Amino acid sequence: MINYKDLGLVNTKEMFAKAMKGGYAIPAFNFNNMEQLQAIVKAAVETKSPVILQVSKGARQYANQTLLRYMAEGAVAYAKELGCKHPEIVLHLDHGDSFETCKSCIDMGFSSVMIDGSHLPFEENVALTKKVVDYAHQFGVTVEGELGVLAGVEDEVSHEHHTYTDPAEVVEFVTKTGCDSLAISIGTSHGAFKFTPEQCHIDEKTGRLVPPPLAFDVLDGVMKELPGFPIVLHGSSSVPQEEVEIINANGGALKAAIGIPEEELRKAAKSSVCKINIDSDSRLAMTAAIRKVFADSPAEFDPRKYLGPARDNMEKLYKEKIINVLGSDNKLED
Ligand SMILES: [Zn+2]
Repeated sequence: MINYKDLGLVNTKEMFAKAMKGGYAIPAFNFNNMEQLQAIVKAAVETKSPVILQVSKGARQYANQTLLRYMAEGAVAYAKELGCKHPEIVLHLDHGDSFETCKSCIDMGFSSVMIDGSHLPFEENVALTKKVVDYAHQFGVTVEGELGVLAGVEDEVSHEHHTYTDPAEVVEFVTKTGCDSLAISIGTSHGAFKFTPEQCHIDEKTGRLVPPPLAFDVLDGVMKELPGFPIVLHGSSSVPQEEVEIINANGGALKAAIGIPEEELRKAAKSSVCKINIDSDSRLAMTAAIRKVFADSPAEFDPRKYLGPARDNMEKLYKEKIINVLGSDNKLED
């Protein structure tokens, strides 16, 4: 049993309370490898932002759970080495699918877990979430639950249609489970293809597709029922068209990749939304940089020569998100 505190990590409790008060949201960036982790930590340190390192079950299988534990510990040490005296770093399980997965993460040093019972009938979701909360809270680990279903594909999680969260259910869910935060469905979705072109309209100035707006009325309904309770948005990548264009100009084939406009996320970050999940955007930034190196220098075969620019491009993206979308910069103690 490894407690997250021994790794220098923190849970989300205080972090979310401050974000709620300050009207900003904490970035939850997914990672699978060293370059992503380096970029996340560097961006967080340089902008003085708290950060959630997020790992899906698939990422855990990909990277190896033992390595991940040391990478998280290393992230804290690296942040300090970069000059951050009091880093606030969470290691969070994204979309935990069972009590066993959550328990295993908690036992391996995670400071926060999500149990995703959103596909289950309400009472079963409540029972599963409560079981995880009861275990996690013994060790100070915070738990994110989910009500409502997001569309899209993310590792093992895949749904064709979304079902908005029903604000009438949230109080009962939070009270019965004791969860620390709640992921809701208001029209964000997983992956880089969040909307079909038919669902969008064309912006006359840019010629680009504009997706339908998020259901802020649902968010307002949830906030009315649960004043001051931390809300989480999944599937909140914006799918930067510059990156998509670089990918496609250099041999890629991403057709009609569409994300959530940053404007809408900025609005959400100022509300009870305390955590915003971003994964696809970093995948796009990484892929765009690598494709460009391969297209420009086909003779290149030193991984540092393409993973280095990929890392730089991700770092730039993370900083841009922290400063211009989430507003979580300059929130760490000196
Ligand atoms: Zn998600």
